[in-house]
Amino acid sequence: MVVRYIFILARRNALKYTKGVVLSLLKSEGKALENLYREADAIRHRKMGDEIYIRGIVEFSNVCANNCLYCGIRASNKNFRRYSMSADEILEAAFSMEQSSLSTIVLQSGEAPGIRDEEIGAIIRRIKKETTLAVTVSVGNRPQEMYHYWRECGMDRYFLRFETSNPELFGRLHPGCTLEERLACLGYLRDLGIQTGSGFMIGLPGETLDILAGNIFLCREFDLDMIGIGPYIPHPDTPLGDTTNVYKDNKEVFFKALAVLRIFNPEAHIPATTAFDAVFPGEGRTLALQRGANIFMPNSTPVQYRKDYLLYPGKPGVDDDPDQCLDSATVRIKSLGRSIGKGPGHSIKKRAP
Ligand code: SAM
Repeated sequence: MVVRYIFILARRNALKYTKGVVLSLLKSEGKALENLYREADAIRHRKMGDEIYIRGIVEFSNVCANNCLYCGIRASNKNFRRYSMSADEILEAAFSMEQSSLSTIVLQSGEAPGIRDEEIGAIIRRIKKETTLAVTVSVGNRPQEMYHYWRECGMDRYFLRFETSNPELFGRLHPGCTLEERLACLGYLRDLGIQTGSGFMIGLPGETLDILAGNIFLCREFDLDMIGIGPYIPHPDTPLGDTTNVYKDNKEVFFKALAVLRIFNPEAHIPATTAFDAVFPGEGRTLALQRGANIFMPNSTPVQYRKDYLLYPGKPGVDDDPDQCLDSATVRIKSLGRSIGKGPGHSIKKRAP
């Protein structure tokens, strides 16, 4: 289908959102590509406004029981120090975020058993009692009862990427885990009324353009509140360390995927993820904010832990303290003529009670 025609249909609410349309858009080049980026930015402006919400991410433990083939903190990697922050250290990070006018803390870690699930619940309770922050948790697959318990403790949102929509590829990359289980977890979260985020990596070894289109399409089918995507970056201490990103020679695909994601998910919060800066140093996240993204997530992890949470090499800001990360985020946002979002920046989607 001709790209311009797709946009006209979208504006008239007459577009059939199919995987075929995703594929056509992903193949945009030249003038059509310029139009794709312009349209994604216009939809972001119309639906999400010009405010950029800042969510500070605290990587509170790098202990992980999983062995995902691409991930730097996988259980079998012995080349770095494992840590788990204490509850008081996490609270301290939350207090300084609040002082810096951030409104959401994202608590991320490897999967169990760094900090026990009950302890995570107690930390959520304390953050909700002692600060005004919204709390997003991102610690992997859990039983529905645990998500329910964390919600009772005050958790506002949960973030769990499905990584790839292709079941065989998912199985190869995640020993002992299936795509079905991952999607079931996302279903539990939705059923519990928790604001749900997911997403995928772009260019995993074995990914085809068809799979990438399927990833974008799956985000729409799940009607997600938040969607985080970013390029896959090989980590030398993993089994895939020598396997390059499939779009290594065509990195524009990373931004095309982001723009199409926005067109297919007009009302989702979409962060400009750190991995964009790792691939395009100094400008990746800025470009992402101009091509569909509306959220920025500076690293709020205490500096002494940063270098041990290396999911992939080249992660920016490893030596900067949280205030420096926030300052550089503010500069970027202002340079785009956009403003910093006030309040928690919850999902704008209306859900049936
Ligand atoms: N344990 C939680 C989970 O699985 O959702 C959160 C931590 S996990 C390490 C955070 C994300 O890092 C993953 O969802 C994955 O998409 C991303 N990631 C890991 N290794 C990566 C790599 N080599 N390149 C790009 N992203 C990577």
